[in-house]
Amino acid sequence: MNTAAFKVAVVGGGISGAVCASTLARNGVSVILFESARGPGGRREKTEDGKELSFDHGAPFFSVSKPEVQSIVQEWESKGLVAEWKEEFGSFDFHTRKFNNIEQQVGFSKRFVGVPGMNSICKALCNESGVESKFRVGIGKAEWLDDEKLWSLTGVDGQNLGQFKGLVASDKNIVSSRVTEVTGQPPPLDFSLVPELSAKLQNLPVQPCFAVMLAFAEPLSSIPFKGLSFENSKVLSWAYCDSCKPNRETTSERWVLHSTTEYAEGIISQTGMKKPSDATLNKVAEQLLQEFQSTRIHIPEPFFKRAHRW
Ligand SMILES: Cc1cc2nc3c(=O)[nH]c(=O)nc-3n(C[C@H](O)[C@H](O)[C@H](O)COP(=O)(O)OP(=O)(O)OC[C@H]3O[C@@H](n4cnc5c(N)ncnc54)[C@H](O)[C@@H]3O)c2cc1C
Repeated sequence: MNTAAFKVAVVGGGISGAVCASTLARNGVSVILFESARGPGGRREKTEDGKELSFDHGAPFFSVSKPEVQSIVQEWESKGLVAEWKEEFGSFDFHTRKFNNIEQQVGFSKRFVGVPGMNSICKALCNESGVESKFRVGIGKAEWLDDEKLWSLTGVDGQNLGQFKGLVASDKNIVSSRVTEVTGQPPPLDFSLVPELSAKLQNLPVQPCFAVMLAFAEPLSSIPFKGLSFENSKVLSWAYCDSCKPNRETTSERWVLHSTTEYAEGIISQTGMKKPSDATLNKVAEQLLQEFQSTRIHIPEPFFKRAHRW
């Protein structure tokens, strides 16, 4: 018997792929997870003088409503992979120039963060016993072999990655034309093989966003909240204090700004979907910082700023 034939390939090491791979492995299925990035999520940046700075530049936190997810999060909490983020969140209105305490108005669910970074959950799941994780391996092609009833995977570099009884694609990029817009290559899975799935995935809205990572030498003490949503700004949607989360390094104060979708779409309409140039990212970092500073809250010059497009 060819044991390789009973393996399942999971494409993507984000939270969906990592939870899926761990669940399959815990149920006795042999799993290989492929992730094109160098590791699961998060971002380590270096200042010009070599100082290391950590940022969660994607999802800043998550909340849980479904009981079946609550039990998973309790397990992560008991293992020290996540902690509750207890700081107060508010909003800032650019018209009235006032802060509002949104938690008093609408109530809120507990916020959880990974510790010491949001990627800790994926890191742990990708390293669980029974999950073989391969980072920096992008899937370039997924083919269904009808005679063998197996999936055959090829890397973006043309390497044969083996054959698998099952395939789990955790990112809609597997059949998305966005892949071609960004890389110039066709998506890994031929649309015509999975027409229904492909049609559903094509219709999922894509909301682009720029994140700007900022590091300050001093705390931004004139901001009364550690997480802020913005009203009546065409540029900024969110700002939150990354270094104020539990178990973070606190020698600098680090904030992450998120742009509005409208702002990101405006930039993309000028530059296209290809990887943004340094000049574009520098311009975005400057514009989001200027909008943050235009709140008239005292915000000093950061010693580090860098933008990322999602
Ligand atoms: C700016 C921003 C703010 C957000 N805020 C929140 C929030 O406050 N709360 C919240 O709950 N959620 C938030 N989210 C959403 C949350 O981050 C996502 O829902 C979640 O991370 C999706 O996880 P995923 O595993 O489905 O996908 P992803 O995390 O996108 O993982 C997919 C993985 O697949 C990999 N991949 C794709 N194609 C290939 C390939 N061909 N070969 C190999 N690997 C491949 C990618 O590299 C990626 O790592 C936010 C997202 C962004 C961008």
